[in-house]
Amino acid sequence: MRRLKLSGMGQTLDMRLKEAEENDLSHEEFLVQLVQDEIAQRENNNLKRRLRVAQFGSEKTLEGFDFKFNNQALPATLIRDLATCRFIDLKENVILAGPPGIGKTHLAKALGHQACRNGFQVLFKKAHSYIEELMNAKTIFKYEGLFKKGSLVDLLILDDFGFRKMSAKEAEIFYSLIDDRLGMASTVVTSNRPSEDWINIFPDPVMGGAILDRLVSGARKIIITKARSYRKEGPKKEYTEVDKERKKK
Ligand code: ADP
Ligand code: MG
Repeated sequence: MRRLKLSGMGQTLDMRLKEAEENDLSHEEFLVQLVQDEIAQRENNNLKRRLRVAQFGSEKTLEGFDFKFNNQALPATLIRDLATCRFIDLKENVILAGPPGIGKTHLAKALGHQACRNGFQVLFKKAHSYIEELMNAKTIFKYEGLFKKGSLVDLLILDDFGFRKMSAKEAEIFYSLIDDRLGMASTVVTSNRPSEDWINIFPDPVMGGAILDRLVSGARKIIITKARSYRKEGPKKEYTEVDKERKKK
């Protein structure tokens, strides 16, 4: 097993042998269990690697998302539909725009997490820091490496897009990124500004138009004008629903 690098099997072998003896398992049942242990361990390791490469920072999942909190603005059916990752198969983009604190970043990360579970390569970046990283790349080699990470990944998540205006050079870089991904792979963009305002972020309206045409035109758009801020109105850590119940009693 060691020579074949079957460490998943190696780890559970003793336990499975004992189990087989105690429960009178057939040879076949024993072997199936052992092989399944190997598969489970490999899948688990692959998922861990994909999550690490995705650079989510703080990990957010749909399991940790309260669907009721903003159900009107962010209907559970819509989120569940996105969570199937079909949009990634279809190479569609997703735009998630709305006021701060309502769960855009949480949702984008949770969809990324789901995509990792489904076997996709994901990269999560704050939009402006990714462009800054590209701008500051010291050599063309470094630039290309960093650019490829974002241009080739199955799902690129650009968080907090449109924080500030872009320079001409930044817009050029952003254009090549979006142009490379168009029709090839999905991009999820979150922003505190509605996508109608995004044109003002670019120094040149022609370039801006070309970018938005590629990024937004065919995208699934979730544009939220009114929703509750979880940051302000969500349950406080020191005062939870459980505490409320206790108080009543
Ligand atoms: P936005 O990106 O829209 O500004 P965030 O996604 O950063 O908002 O949400 C702010 C905080 O509230 C985060 O800690 C996030 O995990 C939490 N949060 C937001 N919406 C929900 C929700 N529906 N269920 C659980 N936590 C939420
Ligand atoms: Mg955010």
